[in-house]
Amino acid sequence: MLAARMTKNEDQLQLCLALRPPAEGDDSGEPREKKIAVLTSGGDSQGMNAALRGIVRVAIYAGCSVFFVKEGYKGLLEGGEMIIPATWSSVSDIMHKGGTVIGSTRNEEFKEREGRVQAVCNLVQAGINYLVVVGGDGSLTGALLLHDEWPQMLQELMGTGRITQREASMYGTLQLVGLAASIDNDFHGTDMTIGCDTALHRIVEATDSIASTASSHQRCFIMEVMGRNCGYLTLKSAMASEADYVFIPELPEPENWQETLCEKLKYERKMGKRMNIVMVCEGAQDSHGQHITSQMVLEVVETTLKYDTRLTVLGHVQRGGRPSAFDRILATRMGAEAVRCLLDPEEQGQEPKVISLQKNALVRADMAASIKGTQEENEALRRQDSPKSVEMRGRSFGNNVQTYKMLNAMIESNPEETPKFTVGVLHVGQPACGMNAVVATLVRMAAHLSVRILGFHNGVEGLAAGNFEELSWKSVDGWVPQGGAKLYTDAKNAEGLEKDIANTLETNGVQALIIVGGFQAYVTALQMFQGRQDNPQLCVPVNVIPSSISNRIPGTDFSVGADTALNELTAMCDRLRLSAQGTFKRNYVTEVMGKHCGYLATMGGIASGADQSYIFEEPLTLNDLQTDVNHMKIKMERGDIVRGLVIRNEEFNPNFSTKFIYQLFAEEGKEVFTTRMLILGPLQEGVSPTPFDRDLAIKLAASAIKWTVEQLESGAGAGPDSPQTATLTGIVGKEYCHTPVTEIEENADFTYEIPKTQWWMKFRQLAKIVATFNEAYENGKVSLESLET
Ligand code: ADP
Ligand code: ADP
Repeated sequence: MLAARMTKNEDQLQLCLALRPPAEGDDSGEPREKKIAVLTSGGDSQGMNAALRGIVRVAIYAGCSVFFVKEGYKGLLEGGEMIIPATWSSVSDIMHKGGTVIGSTRNEEFKEREGRVQAVCNLVQAGINYLVVVGGDGSLTGALLLHDEWPQMLQELMGTGRITQREASMYGTLQLVGLAASIDNDFHGTDMTIGCDTALHRIVEATDSIASTASSHQRCFIMEVMGRNCGYLTLKSAMASEADYVFIPELPEPENWQETLCEKLKYERKMGKRMNIVMVCEGAQDSHGQHITSQMVLEVVETTLKYDTRLTVLGHVQRGGRPSAFDRILATRMGAEAVRCLLDPEEQGQEPKVISLQKNALVRADMAASIKGTQEENEALRRQDSPKSVEMRGRSFGNNVQTYKMLNAMIESNPEETPKFTVGVLHVGQPACGMNAVVATLVRMAAHLSVRILGFHNGVEGLAAGNFEELSWKSVDGWVPQGGAKLYTDAKNAEGLEKDIANTLETNGVQALIIVGGFQAYVTALQMFQGRQDNPQLCVPVNVIPSSISNRIPGTDFSVGADTALNELTAMCDRLRLSAQGTFKRNYVTEVMGKHCGYLATMGGIASGADQSYIFEEPLTLNDLQTDVNHMKIKMERGDIVRGLVIRNEEFNPNFSTKFIYQLFAEEGKEVFTTRMLILGPLQEGVSPTPFDRDLAIKLAASAIKWTVEQLESGAGAGPDSPQTATLTGIVGKEYCHTPVTEIEENADFTYEIPKTQWWMKFRQLAKIVATFNEAYENGKVSLESLET
């Protein structure tokens, strides 16, 4: 078909070429202007729009022209109207939308060499030799081929007279960068692909809804999750939903899986569970490579156990809905980094890169090697090489498998056996979603480690008063998805209560403490450590698990509950966006939580596409605020936006209060737009933890209880002079680490209760670039090289 079309158009092409103005270049033969094309291809995924926004805005900031190629490779093949200029405002109001606003298709013609020749021709004729492809491994494979064949194809096109010699030399190489977007997280070399976190949100939301009905009717639900070649989504959602059994392709099932499955489900019912959830990955298989379908699983449960069993195939639900905050932020960062990489003088003429997330930082990975790695992973699966598959998925995949297994093992408890250790757990600080998941995981892991867990109620006061209950495997069933703090929490620290606490520990034989909470949880651990000279009974291993919506605890990049709060506030900002649709122009001044920490305001600002976010850590003058008001007026006047969103962190500045900022925008902007004020308040805490918060809670708790037992076994905490035993279990990069609380002191600002240095502050500049025009920079414009992503 393509060949026919090309032959028919041959004469027209020659004519066009003769009439086309010469390629614009300077004297050295370099194109006068850098033109970047961007396309989305393959299966769509949530966050693609945020990537487009990031690419377009950062490219414009850098002085380039940007073009959208509509409908993926189809648009590249058709050229003409399918390659259109992208403007600053063309990416307004798209962040919150699912899928991709420029369309994505699967295109067979592009797989043919002839098709790709046509694509090269269209790009060169449009004066474009910078390309960003956002898609899965198939799309990036196609892009890499295009890159590799480019020089040869230029010669051929020149030979047939379809491009000029000047064009061939001016656009001699294709500068290519890829962004891996796929809900399955199946691309080698990146910790996360764009869209995966949102898919997890959809699966976990669906499973939560099903769990309540399943429990009412004592049903067993079989959930089929997407992933022909990758069990990542299934495994993570099984952990987050406390599923009783999981089938993933990386772990082929034994021949007698039917028996193992039924035995496990029977055990769960015996333990008092009123329902079962079984997660089946699309690509599940047995050790002979036989496909295990969700229907097969359903039949086994129905016929063998005679349970009321239902099958839910989640299907395209997993692809849909609003992108999660993480996907929007990740895609914005990756989009910005793609432009930096394309324009970096050191990258010119180098092999194409894929922007990848590794240990919470963006890196430029070699595209060919990443594709090869992905193919090898798929090949290992086909060969049924389970250890290799698990290994190639990365260390944390293997750890996830182990953690899932431990949390779901069948434990035959022996009432005669006395546990080796007794550990207390309590909350200190404001409630945060995921606190219950921490406690549930501690209890379940403790069962393997011969540890008795005492849950203290009402924070430190409850600890001082000896107010506790013994927690059992059964008592924490169903806690993971629940928000709030079932043990109740209080922000009070241990000051003045050291003696009473020492007394509780001694009287009840508590040998170690795990404190789950915010900045004051950390302070409590420090106080206990410091108080041990006067009260030797305090000399027990103490561990803090950071849990705070504000993410303001030193010693960790993330704290449990912050991702939920971020998603809640992003959802609320989306609603504001919708309410402001229509012909009138409106600006919202919105106050968000976080005390003196600007994490939620900054990340929420990026995720919701806010025009500004004001935080305590970044002091501003009235002049700065005035510049922002003027800038908002320009954007509104030009019609680039119809709604404005200004986010203010609750402790930004006592003089520039939320009301003050509202009044400033309302007064100065009144000719152009109306302004409203909104304080989001505790609604941001959320009602159910996000998949990431559940996952983080589980990992931190598993790591903390293992550390605690190691300390107890090694005799640490035996006296005031024994080795340091008060630590905080945090995640730094991707490592789970136990940092002594005294070491963390250096980076703790005790006046404002925030870390002195905060890793996410580096995104402040990026947040500004994607929200503002170049004219907004009266001074302080950064170069692309120094922009941090
Ligand atoms: P994804 O990018 O989500 O993995 P596909 O595998 O369907 O999705 O690929 C999307 C498109 O990328 C295909 O329709 C085709 O146009 C192109 N493509 C995929 N594989 C190749 C290949 N080996 N060679 C050239 N183009 C390819
Ligand atoms: P792990 O199992 O250790 O979490 P993964 O291989 O799943 O590792 O990698 C996921 C990584 O991506 C996390 O370590 C984290 O850095 C990042 N990540 C994933 N989802 C989120 C999120 N919602 N918020 C912040 N970071 C996230």
